[in-house]
Amino acid sequence: MTFQLPDDVISILQRLKKSGFDGFVVGGAVRDLLQEKEVHDWDFATDAMPEQIQKVFPGSFYDNQFGTVGIPRDGNIFEVTTFRTEHGYSDKRRPNKVEWGKSLEEDLSRRDFTINAMALNSKLKIQNSKLKTEGEKNLVEIEVEIIDPFGGQKDLKNKLIRAVGGPTERFSEDALRMMRAIRLGAELGFGIEKKTLEAIKKNKDLIKEISWERIRDEFLKIISSNFPADGVKLLYSTGLLEIILPELVKGAGVPQGGHHINDVFTHCVESLRFCPSLDVWIRLATLLHDVGKPDTMVIRDGKPTFYNHEVVGARIVKVIANRLRLPRKKRDFLWKMVRWHMFAYNPEMTDSAIRRFMRRVGKEDIPKMIELRVGDRKGGGSRETSWRLEELKSRIAGLMNDPLTVADLKIDGFDVMKTLNIKPGPTIGKVLNFLFEEVLEDPSKNDREYLLSRIPAAVNSKDSQQSSD
Ligand code: ATP
Ligand code: MG
Repeated sequence: MTFQLPDDVISILQRLKKSGFDGFVVGGAVRDLLQEKEVHDWDFATDAMPEQIQKVFPGSFYDNQFGTVGIPRDGNIFEVTTFRTEHGYSDKRRPNKVEWGKSLEEDLSRRDFTINAMALNSKLKIQNSKLKTEGEKNLVEIEVEIIDPFGGQKDLKNKLIRAVGGPTERFSEDALRMMRAIRLGAELGFGIEKKTLEAIKKNKDLIKEISWERIRDEFLKIISSNFPADGVKLLYSTGLLEIILPELVKGAGVPQGGHHINDVFTHCVESLRFCPSLDVWIRLATLLHDVGKPDTMVIRDGKPTFYNHEVVGARIVKVIANRLRLPRKKRDFLWKMVRWHMFAYNPEMTDSAIRRFMRRVGKEDIPKMIELRVGDRKGGGSRETSWRLEELKSRIAGLMNDPLTVADLKIDGFDVMKTLNIKPGPTIGKVLNFLFEEVLEDPSKNDREYLLSRIPAAVNSKDSQQSSD
């Protein structure tokens, strides 16, 4: 079979061979090539030891315990790794020690799934093959051989994720592989082969031995994938979600009433499915938006109600964000999205009420909140939008240039200090907040002269004694 490969890739393979070593393209790159997809990461495997690889490629660097040497080429880094074999996974997390393997076959057999356990060996350059330029890469046509000891090509055709070797044994070595299986499935739109799937169900509790950082990374990749809702459903049906996000699973079987046909959990997952955003944080906020419902459900007049579920949900989201070791900024974003997702609109709403909503969400995050709402609506079986939502959007657009934060005021802290002849301190923020509240009600008051004249009154007012909001 022939492939068109970047000339950089071919030169790395040929340099290894000319120096007397083996050299193969391995892992995700082979999978992508066979699927005729663009390759992002080029990984190579060789029998050369790290020091030998470095000699073959002057300017390369070697800086980790996995025997990987990085070769910088045209802004990319190509990673060349010595064949490996792994022994003794006593903690189900990381191999106790990585040993250099003797052969490609050994290296492939320690990889996770059949579609990831193939290698490409370059053979003859096609005579007179024209150098094609695609973007900035030069592609060369070359005869290749695919080394596929575990039937990866067949599984690729049948769209199946199958463990290399015995799945239970492989998941006991590294429990994160259970999430990798679901992640790959969600990225590629593949199913999980029966025995592999059964082994995940049987071994789900092993995931507890994996660090939350590694769980988080795979979970976020599932949320970012092409099929995030199917990925979450698989996490649920295997029992992994109960361990990772028990708060979300709690919504299973909780009825919603009204126009909703699904339980709370299914509604959350369907909202994620229909969320139009590609952004992982907006998608995650959409998945979690109703996470407060199970704890707030009260049956009134025979119907389930969920008063304050957005307040309870926002609290729960903080717990989840801390568990998943999310950065503080992302945690705050998720909190905000869940806390304010219940906005409603009717034409009698005043501009200042709409400005208040805009201030809470923040100008730049309003389109994200709308995307959450679209997911919420479609995930509940409604149309994408309604006249109310469209009218709110256009009223928001009309208010975008109004002052929405203290920073938009025509005066600042220095003005307050000068006018009152005081030093920096909490009074300044309180005065500015007090005046900002006035301006939020009536933007015409955002006038420098007017605000300066109001400073003495602001400092004496009762409201400015307490911090606003
Ligand atoms: P992508 O980079 O597109 O997400 P990939 O297949 O390259 O997909 P990586 O996480 O970069 O995935 O891993 C590279 C290769 O290393 C995999 O294809 C697989 O062969 C192997 N691998 C990665 N993680 C594991 C693991 N936990 N157990 C066994 N093999 C693994
Ligand atoms: Mg990769």
